[in-house]
Amino acid sequence: MNITVKVLLGMALGIIVGLIINLTGSNVSGTWVNSYLTNGVFHIVGSMFVNALKMLVVPLVFFSLVSGVCGIGDIRLLGRIGSKAFILYLITTAIAIATALFIASGLGIGEGMNAVSNANFSGKEAPSLSSVIINIVPSNPISAMAKGEMLPVIFFSIVFGISLLMVGKKAESVSSFVEALNEIMMKMVTVIMAVAPYAVFCLIAKAIANLGLDLLEQLLGYVLVLIGVLLFHLFVTLQIVLKVMSGLSPFTFIKKMRSTQVFAFSTSSSNATIPVTLRTVTERLGVKNSVASFTVPFGATINMDGTAIMQGVATVFIANIYNVDLGMMGYLTVILMSVLASIGTAGVPGVGLIMLSMVFTQVGLPIEGIGLILGVDRLLDMIRTAVNISGDAVVSVVVAKSEGQLNESVYNDPDAGNNIDVHLEKANA
Ligand code: ASP
Repeated sequence: MNITVKVLLGMALGIIVGLIINLTGSNVSGTWVNSYLTNGVFHIVGSMFVNALKMLVVPLVFFSLVSGVCGIGDIRLLGRIGSKAFILYLITTAIAIATALFIASGLGIGEGMNAVSNANFSGKEAPSLSSVIINIVPSNPISAMAKGEMLPVIFFSIVFGISLLMVGKKAESVSSFVEALNEIMMKMVTVIMAVAPYAVFCLIAKAIANLGLDLLEQLLGYVLVLIGVLLFHLFVTLQIVLKVMSGLSPFTFIKKMRSTQVFAFSTSSSNATIPVTLRTVTERLGVKNSVASFTVPFGATINMDGTAIMQGVATVFIANIYNVDLGMMGYLTVILMSVLASIGTAGVPGVGLIMLSMVFTQVGLPIEGIGLILGVDRLLDMIRTAVNISGDAVVSVVVAKSEGQLNESVYNDPDAGNNIDVHLEKANA
């Protein structure tokens, strides 16, 4: 069995076990299921796995980006890759939220609904655009790395890589050292992925066991519309972008991204998924490291199509419940704010709601309204994170193709990078 099949199996079993625990009501605190399974084995194995992924993120991004910059060798090409990725990320996010606003307001979700929020949600002010821009440059790279702040780490790595190139011959030993370190880090991703099917099972079983299914029923309209738009964006919009801009097969893309989407789904974190996305994009989709090492971590931070869709649907839903007419200007502000908010916010679990509070402050919607959707956000966060990382992968492929940095035979080989081999003897051979 290859890794994709194993991971999908882990997910399916996780959903079944989680549902059984949830529906039989055996997850009440104090019961052995709750203490030893959901908060015991599932919690421990799942959290250890997420930690292991997070452990790889910063060193992997640093080493792969430095060796990626060295691999490009041409600073102009680097600039082109950067600007293409940035523009595509902004455009796809804007399309995502516009689709969400259009469909949600067309369907009039939340109209005539009488709901009072009983959960407490305190929002956050949006950081100013100037501070977002200033903070791209780290005053202390070690502190940025320790905090896992992606944009400053990316910035430092690129400048480091460019300087390494400029030093030339004298620094050659450093470039080969970094290249070897990059390979070691990629091997660590493979090692950790070997346990992924079990960890995915634990993470999903726990999440489903803890879902408030009765809440899901009350908010069915919101949940269904949101999931519908997310799927539409994933399977229609993004695939059209891929086909039109690269000419490559969307079917191959969808097939090869499945297991990575399961990682995003089970961890709810684009950031924690970076190692897996990077591995898939390079080893399964054939994007050269010089492009992927930049586009993947950059996308995990600034590109959040799924999160933007949630913001669009939630804005319409809550505006309708509170009888607020946003008007055309309101909608445009929502689009602009969501795109801006996504640039400065990292892809970690639940951050979408914080971004939503920034949007609400701008358009004058009551922040307490977010309390209404709080209870169902756990599941939706899982789904939208899978959409977020798929957007990163599409843009990576498109940019790589346009710059001649895509290995099409890898893209078209159904088995490329799908076998996890962690045998020491073989690695030595
Ligand atoms: N969890 C999402 C991500 O990591 C962000 C969010 O929508 O909350 O991409």
